[in-house]
Amino acid sequence: MIEEAVLRRAKILKKEEDYFNFIRNIGQTVSDTIISDISPLYLSEPRGVYQNKSLYVIKPRSTKEVSECLKLATKYKIGVVPWSGGTGLVGGQIAPDKYSVTLSLEKMNKIKNFSTINQSLEVEAGVILESIHEFVHKKNFLFPLSMASKGSCCIGGNLATNAGGIGVLRYGNARDLCLGLEVVLADGSIINDIKTLKKDNAGYDLKNLFIGSEGSLGIITRAVLRLYPTPTNKIVVFFGVPDFNAALNSYLEISKRFGQFLQAFELISDEGLLFLEETKMVRSTIERSKSDWHVLIELGFNNSSVEEEAYEALNNLYNKNIISNVVVGDTVAKARSLWKMREDIPEANRKIGAITSHDISLPLENMESFINKSLIEIKQINKSLRVNCFGHMGDGNLHFNIFPPQGEKNTSYLEIKSKLTEIINNNCKSLEGSFSAEHGVGRLKVKDLKQYCDPGKFNVMWQLKKAMDPFAILNPGVIVSQDTN
Ligand SMILES: Cc1cc2nc3c(=O)[nH]c(=O)nc-3n(C[C@H](O)[C@H](O)[C@H](O)COP(=O)(O)OP(=O)(O)OC[C@H]3O[C@@H](n4cnc5c(N)ncnc54)[C@H](O)[C@@H]3O)c2cc1C
Repeated sequence: MIEEAVLRRAKILKKEEDYFNFIRNIGQTVSDTIISDISPLYLSEPRGVYQNKSLYVIKPRSTKEVSECLKLATKYKIGVVPWSGGTGLVGGQIAPDKYSVTLSLEKMNKIKNFSTINQSLEVEAGVILESIHEFVHKKNFLFPLSMASKGSCCIGGNLATNAGGIGVLRYGNARDLCLGLEVVLADGSIINDIKTLKKDNAGYDLKNLFIGSEGSLGIITRAVLRLYPTPTNKIVVFFGVPDFNAALNSYLEISKRFGQFLQAFELISDEGLLFLEETKMVRSTIERSKSDWHVLIELGFNNSSVEEEAYEALNNLYNKNIISNVVVGDTVAKARSLWKMREDIPEANRKIGAITSHDISLPLENMESFINKSLIEIKQINKSLRVNCFGHMGDGNLHFNIFPPQGEKNTSYLEIKSKLTEIINNNCKSLEGSFSAEHGVGRLKVKDLKQYCDPGKFNVMWQLKKAMDPFAILNPGVIVSQDTN
């Protein structure tokens, strides 16, 4: 017994020694100006589920410095948890123990090569997404990746999570918007795949392996992004639908006629608008009386005839009673305020406090069955629970969040949390969906991945992780880990 305790203590002392040697060595061989004590900025994440246990944050200024840090991390077997904007929703940016360091890319924030001809932009990983928007806007280009966290999240984090957001329907997700990538591997070696090519079949597609790997296979340091010409005109319209089927029919009609111009088709439940009022985020001016669901669409185009045709199509849907309560964002300010209503919903959810939140995708044809089946099963557990279902419906992606009755705290419902999660994940699986559409796996959904992923696919992920990061220093515990395998 005593021997075991002594051995355990010796192991801890060795870990501590390695850890402080690692920090000391970074100071000596890289630079002590890149190490600071962890500050409140890095301590938590938007959902408040995880607390960062790192003692230090390392802020390299170049790819070379990232490489030096990882070489040392491998030598001393120290966990390295990449941090870009810290807005991730599955806890991947949060160090799980005091022997892991936070590695922030914030000092690698240069916008580099812009090319009008290639329609591309090279950036370092720590550039804030909104700064990219502002930069390319001045050049009359568009970088279509966008989401409510755009003022804080960085391109490194966007790529590491293969972020989706509001332009996926037309332009695709982060993966589709990245032409080239530079990545530092666990042993410090650098993969330089900084290219502007739209076609490159020279061997395995490593770029797309690192995108979405949440820092578990390498650290993204630079990227070449794909730009698009900015459409000169935009229509933003908000309307109500009596039921989900009407939302689906309006989507089919609008996408059939305007597919190439349709940039967003966002579904908002009536509960979502009530939540905005409950949290006093906006006083909704939307007439809600006839609608269980609402839809926000955006079309972007250059030819003004599209605008006429779009209003005509919406008018037809209105006359057939498929849509109602139409609000047109016909000024920049009005369009902005319609979008704000949609983008404020995650914050309203956060203020109310979900018992459990889900980011799922489903084939469109199965979405209604999923919603109906899940609502019935949730109400069987407790008929007063509230569900706020909203999201990027056109992408087949819903955010399905379950809340306590008004005035009650989510902490009073912890005992039903896992049952609710099981309902959502099982229904998702049986209807050919995914339990993680755009937020990733992080620390939050590691067990779900093991449970719901195809075993063959999971095994290859595990083999890749072992081969590329044999000492498990890269974001330990994220996506696949020793504990779940
Ligand atoms: C209000 C709100 C709205 C959101 N809306 C959306 C949405 O519509 N769509 C969507 O997809 N997401 C959304 N998110 C989630 C989040 O903003 C995205 O996941 C975003 O891409 C994360 O970027 P970040 O820079 O904050 O990354 P972080 O949170 O810092 O990191 C996210 C993950 O990537 C890893 N990582 C970070 N940088 C690197 C790097 N350089 N190399 C390797 N790994 C790295 C981290 O370790 C972590 O695992 C939203 C979040 C909030 C708070």
